[in-house]
Amino acid sequence: MSMVEERVLSCPRCGNAQKQEIWQSVNIQLDSDMKQKILDGEYNVFACEKCRAELPVDLPMMYHDMDGKLMIWLLPRDQSLKQTIMGHDAEAKRLLGVTHDGYRKRFVHSRLQLAETIRIFDDGLDDRAVALFKVSYAHRHKMQPDDILYCGLEHDPRVGMVLTFFRRDSESSFVWPMDGYQRAQGIVNQCVPPENGLWTTVDHEYADRIASVYEEAPKPH
Ligand SMILES: [Zn+2]
Repeated sequence: MSMVEERVLSCPRCGNAQKQEIWQSVNIQLDSDMKQKILDGEYNVFACEKCRAELPVDLPMMYHDMDGKLMIWLLPRDQSLKQTIMGHDAEAKRLLGVTHDGYRKRFVHSRLQLAETIRIFDDGLDDRAVALFKVSYAHRHKMQPDDILYCGLEHDPRVGMVLTFFRRDSESSFVWPMDGYQRAQGIVNQCVPPENGLWTTVDHEYADRIASVYEEAPKPH
């Protein structure tokens, strides 16, 4: 099920208090129109009736895709998991504790990261391999890995399938050929133990850990 509730929130700009619809958990099979809204960031936005400010509300939300066997929990960065569970609905608590065979389970800490993770899984890719590429690209180009966002798959007439990315720092796009992705996937398969339904944060720190395991692994001569 999905869980949406009305909460009284204060406008961060003018202080006006009003009721606002807040999604605590979204099941995209049951609320099919919510998926696009999440990709577009059009959910849990405080729309002030007084000053007309529209600001994203920083509250936890669970994304559940039953067909894709994917659960992603968006957590505000300054909030611990314990605080989140305390304040959350029974359905999300149930989902957190249940072992779902074959499920990928992720914690993310921003709305951009939530949308990006959904896109990666929808395209049949492994977010850990993408994260590995992002840290290596960011290192080479002296930028922040979080400024790189996965956008989608495209067919390039010269090199075949490519992954496309957007750089938020320079507002430019670039591509990564599929054979590079497959090499990164090989490193993940070699260096990361099976997930076994564990909740994981796949970010640049996670990718750094994979990279260091790979560096220390014995190489064939
Ligand atoms: Zn306002």
